[in-house]
Amino acid sequence: MFCRSIRFRLTLWYAFTLAVVLAASGLFWDIYFSRELREHHDTRLYLVAEDIANLYFEDGRGARLPLDNADPERCNSLEEYVRLHNWGELVQILNRDGSVTCASMNLRKYRLPLSKQALLAATNGQPYFEMASSESKIPLRLLTYPVLEKGQIVSLIQVAISLSEVNRAVHHLRLVLLTFSPLVLLGLSFGGWFLAGRALSPILRIAREAGHIDAENLTRRLPEGESNDELGQMVRSFNLMLGRLEESFQKIKQFSGDASHELRTPLTILKGETEVALRWAKSPDEYRNVLESNIEEINRMERILEDLLLLAKSEAGELPLQNAALSLSDLLQELYLQANFLGESRRIKVLLHLDVDGEVRIIGDELRLRQMFLNLIVNGIKYTPEGGRVDIGLGLDDSNVVVSIKDNGIGIDKNHLPHIYDRFYRVDAARNREDGGTGLGLAIVRWVVDAHGGLINVVSKPGAGTIFTVKLPIGGNAAYRQRQEN
Ligand code: ADP
Repeated sequence: MFCRSIRFRLTLWYAFTLAVVLAASGLFWDIYFSRELREHHDTRLYLVAEDIANLYFEDGRGARLPLDNADPERCNSLEEYVRLHNWGELVQILNRDGSVTCASMNLRKYRLPLSKQALLAATNGQPYFEMASSESKIPLRLLTYPVLEKGQIVSLIQVAISLSEVNRAVHHLRLVLLTFSPLVLLGLSFGGWFLAGRALSPILRIAREAGHIDAENLTRRLPEGESNDELGQMVRSFNLMLGRLEESFQKIKQFSGDASHELRTPLTILKGETEVALRWAKSPDEYRNVLESNIEEINRMERILEDLLLLAKSEAGELPLQNAALSLSDLLQELYLQANFLGESRRIKVLLHLDVDGEVRIIGDELRLRQMFLNLIVNGIKYTPEGGRVDIGLGLDDSNVVVSIKDNGIGIDKNHLPHIYDRFYRVDAARNREDGGTGLGLAIVRWVVDAHGGLINVVSKPGAGTIFTVKLPIGGNAAYRQRQEN
């Protein structure tokens, strides 16, 4: 658990990155300094060798003469030169046959080694740098420089410098780095651990608070600080999400309460009437009346359940539209005929106005559109007193079809208008029961219009009537979606 914590992993990554950076920079400086020092030494050795070659091998006329044992004076002056200018360097001069002619005093009795590679390079007229060690095992940087006359080796100048001081310094530096780097790493890792803890502590607090929120106390919110940093934004988003959750929870609660209430009413009636009949009814006619009333309640429950199932499926996305091209003019004609039949019994006149040239075709789900328009038309008839009228209109506007259902019925008070699409919402519950309404009709209308990418609008005046206007995109919801994206 501890090893899986973000704090631990952050610190581990931090320490690892730091270790890599420290190791890489240590290595870089080690290589860089060693190379710089070597180049510095090589330049110095070369300059000394050239100096000696120019001073002691020139004969004044541009030729270079060998320095032999027979010329102790030149040897002594070379010794003097070394002493004066290059006390640190060890100089040795070899004859063509490889014997040592002169050597600086600081070499004492030791001799500088001559390797095969150096000899080979000298034969080719090339100076040669190498790592060597003296007879007393002192590490040396050694240059073998050939003195040439007409392409022939006259002499070999060997200049060396002891590396023991430099090596000791480098060694010391490495030791310091190796000792202190882990300590620095440890210290910084502790710092990282502390900082990660501080940065993560608000998250832990939020997690603790969030852990206390459940379905029972969805009204609770996480404390929002002043800051607008990432955590502040996260807390705000979290609270907004809680708000949405609370709202939908509330809706679900309300909905299940309403649904059970709606179903309980017909059940209670069924039970009551059946009990009364069992106790009092005598004749077959009395039983028939009770059964007829019962079937009415059963039909009602069936309607409620069907509508509820439809809405539940639509919300769960299990009711995709079966979109196809269809003739809206034909659909409205059919509905008009049905509405006429329904209206007749209540002496309500139904009229159809097709304000379009020719047939209007749209893309949509015919079954759902039929159900939606029928709900609106049936409502128009239901909420219009005898002798009234319902007008069904079809028109076009840009890329939409516009269908209006207008009645001159009881109308809806403006206080109720915002709620009429809510499930089970009824302006007058007692009256609706009589009319057989479930309170779900307009909720279904709203869903069908939305699913087709359309818009619904209602204008109503109590006592004067109501107009529902539905706008649907001709190309169906795909055209609507495309328009939204543009
Ligand atoms: P119901 O099945 O009860 O008719 P709806 O969802 O279809 O339920 O309608 C919700 C409420 O809106 C109705 O109870 C009714 O009060 C009101 N309503 C709907 N259409 C009309 C209309 N054309 N005229 C007056 N009131 C209406």
